[in-house]
Amino acid sequence: MRADGSGDAPGGLRRRADGIAVAVVGGGVSGLTAARELALAGARVVLYEERDRLGGRVRRENVADVPLDIGAEAFATRGGAVAELLTELGLDGQIVNPAPLGSWVVADDGAMPLPAAGTVGIPAAPLARDAVRALGIGGSLRAALEPLLPRSVGRGATLARLVRARLGSRVLDRLVRPVVLGVHSADPADLPVEAVPGLAEAFERRGTLISAARELRDSRAAAGGAVAGLRDGMGELVDALADELERLGVEVRTSARVRRVERGEADGIRILAAARSTAGPAADDAETEALADAAILAVPERAARQMLGAPDAEPEARIEIVALAIDDPRLDAAPRGTGALVAADAVPRIRAKALTHVTAKWPARAASLGPGRHLLRLSYGRLGSAPETAGLPDEEVLALALRDASRILGMELDPASVRGMLRREWDNGSVRASAATGSDRTGLSEPPGVAFAGDWVGGTGLASVIPAARAAARRILRPAPTPAAPAHVPAPHPEGGPR
Ligand SMILES: Cc1cc2nc3c(=O)[nH]c(=O)nc-3n(C[C@H](O)[C@H](O)[C@H](O)COP(=O)(O)OP(=O)(O)OC[C@H]3O[C@@H](n4cnc5c(N)ncnc54)[C@H](O)[C@@H]3O)c2cc1C
Repeated sequence: MRADGSGDAPGGLRRRADGIAVAVVGGGVSGLTAARELALAGARVVLYEERDRLGGRVRRENVADVPLDIGAEAFATRGGAVAELLTELGLDGQIVNPAPLGSWVVADDGAMPLPAAGTVGIPAAPLARDAVRALGIGGSLRAALEPLLPRSVGRGATLARLVRARLGSRVLDRLVRPVVLGVHSADPADLPVEAVPGLAEAFERRGTLISAARELRDSRAAAGGAVAGLRDGMGELVDALADELERLGVEVRTSARVRRVERGEADGIRILAAARSTAGPAADDAETEALADAAILAVPERAARQMLGAPDAEPEARIEIVALAIDDPRLDAAPRGTGALVAADAVPRIRAKALTHVTAKWPARAASLGPGRHLLRLSYGRLGSAPETAGLPDEEVLALALRDASRILGMELDPASVRGMLRREWDNGSVRASAATGSDRTGLSEPPGVAFAGDWVGGTGLASVIPAARAAARRILRPAPTPAAPAHVPAPHPEGGPR
C-alpha cells in the first residue's frame, strides 16, 4: 500500500477526487448516524467497529428465545431528534409510547408511585396526594415552602445541594437521588445542574425548581410524553441504520479496532487499525493503515483519548443489566407500573438500583408473548463502584436478581417460574459524560480534520447523541473557513441544531 492510502491494499481508504473520504470510528448509534449523514452528502465513508456487531450500547439479545434490548430500550422525545431520524429511516410507524402506568419508588418503609410528571424526581406539585405519599406530610410541606426562598438559595452548586437547599433532603433522598442514579448511573452530589436537560434554564426563567419542573412537564406533554420506544425494540434502529449504510455504499469494517488516529502526510488523517483475525484469539491481529481526509471519533471518551495519545479519562460508570424471563400470571397486574427505582435507604435490603417491567411498559411486547409471560430488567452499579453482580457466577446473580425483584415487586417470585436469564455488563460514560453540554467539559480539543461524537460530547442518551453525531458530520463537511477554526466541539445544545 502506498503511504497516501491509495492503492489496493486491504486497509486502504482510497481518497477520491470528487469528494472527501472520511473514516468513522465506532459503530454505535453515533457512528452509524454520522456515517449516514456523511454518505448522504456524497462522502466516501469507511466505518470501523471493534466488535463483530454494530449498535454499541443499543443491543438486542434473546432471553428464553424472546428478543430484548439489553442496552438502551427507549429514547427521550425532547427535541424531536430521535423521531426525526426514525422518520427518515421509515421507522416512524413503529414508534410506540410506554403504557401510562407510571413508575414507583421503593424505600425502606415501602413502595409508592413516583409523583406524576416530575423532572428527575423534582415534584411539580409537592402537595399533591402522590407527592405527600412519597415524601410524608413534613417532606411535602418543606418542599412547598420553596417559593418563599430567595432565588439565590442553592445556586451554583451540584444538583444534590440545589435540591436539598431548596426542597429539603426528603425530596433529594426519596425522589431525586433514585431517579438520577437510575438515569445517569451517578449520584446527584456528583452532577452539575446542567446535567439535567433544560433544568438550569427553566430554573433561571422561573426562579423555583417546582415551577421549573412544571414547565418541563408541560413541554414534555406537548411533545407527546417523556420517552418512546420502537414496537420491536431499539435494536430496529441499528438494523435500519446498517441497512441504509449498505445501500449508500458505506464500507463497514467490523472486528476492526482502531489503535491510533494521527496526522498523516499531505494533510490526511492516518488511521491505524487492528483487524481481529478470524483464526481465533491466539492468532496475531493484522495491522492495517489507511489515510483519510477526515475522521469522526464516535467512541467513548477513553477510547478517543487512547487513539489520540491524550491522557486517560476519568473512570466510567460500570453497570450490569440482568434480564429475567418469568412465567407468573400475577405479574399481569403490573404491581409496580412500568418499573421502580430503589431509594438510598432501601439499598441494604435491595442491591439493584432499578427494575423495568418490560412487558408492562411496552404492551406490544407483552401481546406478542401472551398472558403470564414476563420480562424484567434489573440494573446494578453506579459510578465509583463495581456493580454488585460483578464477578459473581450466574447462579448467584440469578438468586440476587430474584430476591431483589421479589422485594421491589412486593411478591415472592418462585425460582421455578424463571424461564431464562441474560446478563450484560456495560461501561456507561463518566459523570462528565452525563453532564456533557459542550467541549469545555471534555477538556479535549478536536484536532484539525477530526470531529468527536458520542455521549461524552453531547450528553447521555439517544436524544443527545444523535444530534451530536449529525453536528460532528456537519463540522467535517463544512469545516470552519479560518485557521481560528473551532478546535472544540461547538455543540452546547445539539437538539436545537438545524436539520
Ligand atoms: C444499559 C444501558 C441502558 C441505556 N438505556 C438508555 C435508554 O433507554 N435511552 C437512551 O436514550 N439511552 C440509554 N442508554 C445510553 C445510550 O445507550 C448511549 O448514550 C448511546 O447508545 C451511545 O451511543 P454511542 O454510539 O455514542 O456510543 P456506543 O454505543 O458506546 O458506541 C461506541 C462504539 O465504538 C466502538 N469502539 C470503541 N472503541 C473502539 C475502537 N478502538 N475501534 C473501533 N471501535 C471502537 C464500541 O465497540 C461501540 O460499538 C443506555 C445505556 C446503557 C449502557
